[in-house]
Amino acid sequence: MKTDADIRYEEKKDMKNQELEKTANWRVFIPKIDLKRCNKNYRCFVVCPHDAVDIKKDGFPAIDASKCTGCLICLRECEPAAISEERE
Ligand code: SF4
Repeated sequence: MKTDADIRYEEKKDMKNQELEKTANWRVFIPKIDLKRCNKNYRCFVVCPHDAVDIKKDGFPAIDASKCTGCLICLRECEPAAISEERE
């Protein structure tokens, strides 16, 4: 039979596992988009393997920090060099 302490421990363990499931938890760098340089070619949106680039209503891309792993593929693929990296 489980005690209250066992139940609290399992609840905490579940919460911890849910946090670890977020890909962004192990990110070291996050891409930053310079909207002045962005020409809206949407290459970042296309190449992101984690569906972490959204297109806003104004047509500019935006990084979804909850999904971004920091792989920086978008940075390397951005032709106008509108994406830079920032250490977290
Ligand atoms: S760094 Fe990687 S995961 Fe993050 S937005 Fe760019 S391509 Fe997607």
